[in-house]
Parts: sequence; structure tokens; C-alpha cells
Amino acid sequence: MYDFVVVGAGPAGSRFARRVAQQGYDVVVFEQGEVGKPLACSGHVSTDIWSFVPDDAEDRLFQNEIRGARFHTGGPGSEGYRFHKQEEVSNVIDRVELDRTLADAARNAGADIRENHTVVGLTEYRDSVAVRVRGPDGIETHHGRMVAGCDGPKSRVRQTVGLPDPDELLHGVLGFHDDPDHQDFVDVHLTVPRFFAWRIPRGEAGVEYGLAMEPTDDVTARFEAFTEGYGVETDRRCSGLIPIGPPERTHTGRVFLLGDAAGQNKPFTGGGILYGMTAADVAADLVIPTDPATLEDYEQAWRDELEQDITLGHLVRKGYSAPEQIQKAGMALFEGEIGVHMDRPTSLFSKEQLRAMLTD
Ligand SMILES: Cc1cc2nc3c(=O)[nH]c(=O)nc-3n(C[C@H](O)[C@H](O)[C@H](O)COP(=O)(O)OP(=O)(O)OC[C@H]3O[C@@H](n4cnc5c(N)ncnc54)[C@H](O)[C@@H]3O)c2cc1C
Repeated sequence: MYDFVVVGAGPAGSRFARRVAQQGYDVVVFEQGEVGKPLACSGHVSTDIWSFVPDDAEDRLFQNEIRGARFHTGGPGSEGYRFHKQEEVSNVIDRVELDRTLADAARNAGADIRENHTVVGLTEYRDSVAVRVRGPDGIETHHGRMVAGCDGPKSRVRQTVGLPDPDELLHGVLGFHDDPDHQDFVDVHLTVPRFFAWRIPRGEAGVEYGLAMEPTDDVTARFEAFTEGYGVETDRRCSGLIPIGPPERTHTGRVFLLGDAAGQNKPFTGGGILYGMTAADVAADLVIPTDPATLEDYEQAWRDELEQDITLGHLVRKGYSAPEQIQKAGMALFEGEIGVHMDRPTSLFSKEQLRAMLTD
């Protein structure tokens, strides 16, 4: 009997596994594929990322430093409103390597990470959960006192135990061009229904072009038109889903969700690496595998930590659908130096932001 069975070795699962293994709990992580693959993420994160990885990882992961963003209401070639900080706002990192680093840190803490093991079913009992796993040798059944569903936006754990889905799943597409680009600005184009398209300079790793939108629309055709506008042809295309939520409830009696499975990401960018790991730390601090009541504490505490920012993030996203003249007026008002933390839209109302606006 494991204390925790973790489903999925993405950032949320590996972070949680590392933290509870450090506390001496017996932890197994089942990952359906190879850790970090396939890539479906820009790896554009606030500098808070460095507090979640071992010190020696920075050289391996770091690709580029970002100080600001140009927001365009038009496509490539249109003029952008510039938002920036004097110091770095964010970093672009190697996302595949991030997942490997986090999984290694969990292994070093004592977690047992098993790749090529897909969780195919769960049954909750009063004192434990039976987890059915398809591995290279067929179906196995393992037992845990609790199960952490860290299995991404479509979460089979969430579906199996009947927890609600997030409100929306957006479809994100990425492609890369190899020319090195060390600029410290990203470009954001508000030309896609209810979301945006982007260009991210990745240093020696080239340039990334991407967009995300509702899956019903023609994502691929829009992506082609966007990259054509920039006059580039991309390769290594990939795509993934972005949950917009969070759902009303993220735990049952002995099963709880973390990361994208729980809709713990920013509705205005889709970014979920830092929110998922923040929630993983909350869970590791509070959840006791022999005490199901602690799952309610987790539910309350992660919402206290993130929900205000998520709510404000929904409002920011509404601005993407505002008429162009209103978008322009709003951006003209805030353009220039900003004091906002990229993961925390509530910092729009901080002293730093006020100071930045008044001194610009
Ligand atoms: C196009 C795009 C761009 C993005 N860009 C950014 C960005 O720049 N910055 C940012 O912060 N976020 C970004 N995100 C979001 C980010 O990728 C997610 O928020 C993050 O990966 C969530 O981490 P997670 O651990 O919750 O889930 P995941 O990273 O999705 O990990 C889930 C893991 O579970 C495994 N799994 C799934 N089902 C099973 C199963 N049944 N059994 C066993 N294993 C299973 C999967 O293989 C996977 O390894 C982007 C997303 C997309 C789609």
C-alpha cells in the first residue's frame, strides 16, 4: 500500500511527489509515456521558476530573458503597445528538460517514477484506492491511501471519479524557426477569437510562433496565416489543450486533482506551470494520506492562494474580445513601464504598479 499514487509526471505531479517523498511518504508516480514528451508548451515562465528546481538546473534550462511584451491589435507588421520592466519579467526555458529535472528531483527524494505506465482505472474504497495500470507487462493493480490526479487537461482520473470538467479546453499550436533571436520582448497578437497568437524569441534555440483558441475554429489555417504574415515557415509543430476553469470541485473522498487536471492555470495566458507547482506545494503541506478530511483543507487552501488571480485573469481575457478601439484605449492607458507580476494579475493593484504608472 503506497501513501500516495500520483498519476502523471508533469510539473505538478513531479513537484508533489518530490515534496511528499521528502516527508518520508511512500510515493509511486505512473507516467503514461516518457517524462517531458511530447512537447506542447512554450516554457515561458516567471523567474519564480528557479525556486522550484535545483540550483544547478538553471544553466541547462535557461534559453532567454524577457523584459516586456508588445501587444498588437493587428497581425504581424502592425504596431505594438509596449509593456516592460527595467529588470527581467520572465524567462524562456527548455520545457522538456524542466520536466526531466523535476522528475529527477522527485526520484532523488525517494519517489518511484515509472514511465510507460498508463493509469486506466480507479476504484475508491473507504480506506484506500485501487489503481489499474497498463504497463509493458500488462495490467497491474496497485493500492494507495490517496491518489493525486496530475494527468493534465483531459485528466482520466477526473473523468473516472466523476469530478467536474473545467469550463473550456482551448487548442494551442506551436511551431519553431531555427534562426537565433536574443530579443527581450515577446509579441502578442489579439487577432484570434477570445485568445491570442504569439511570437517568443528563444535565444540560440530560435523563435517560437503559436496561437490558442477554441477547438471548433480552424486553428491550423489561422496558424499558417499567422506565420506567413511573419514570412516564416515553421517546423517541429506540436499542439496541446489548455483548460480554462477551474472546476467547482477538485477532490473526492481519497482522490484529488493538481495542475491542469484541476484547471490551475492562468485564464489570460493558459500558463499553468507555476500555478500547478504552487498548488502541489499546498497539497504537500496539508494532505495527510490517512486523513481524508485534509483534502477539504487542500481544496480551500489552493483556492485561497490562486483563485483571486484566476478570477482577475478571466477579466483580463474578456479584454481580448473587446472592440478594437476599446482595446487600444485600454492599452494606451497602461503602456510603458509596468510593475505587474506576470503570474499575479492582482498585482495590477500593487504599489509597484502605481509607482511604475506615475513615474513613466
Ligand atoms: C500550446 C501551449 C503552450 C503553453 N505555454 C505555456 C507557457 O509558456 N508557460 C506555462 O506556464 N504554461 C504553458 N502551457 C500550459 C502548461 O503546459 C501546463 O499548464 C502544464 O504542463 C500543466 O502541468 P501538469 O503537470 O498539470 O500537466 P501536464 O504537463 O499535462 O502533465 C500531465 C502528465 O500526465 C501524463 N498522463 C496523462 N494521462 C495519464 C494516464 N492515464 N496515466 C499516466 N500518465 C498520464 C501525461 O503524459 C503528462 O506527462 C502551455 C500549454 C499549451 C497547450
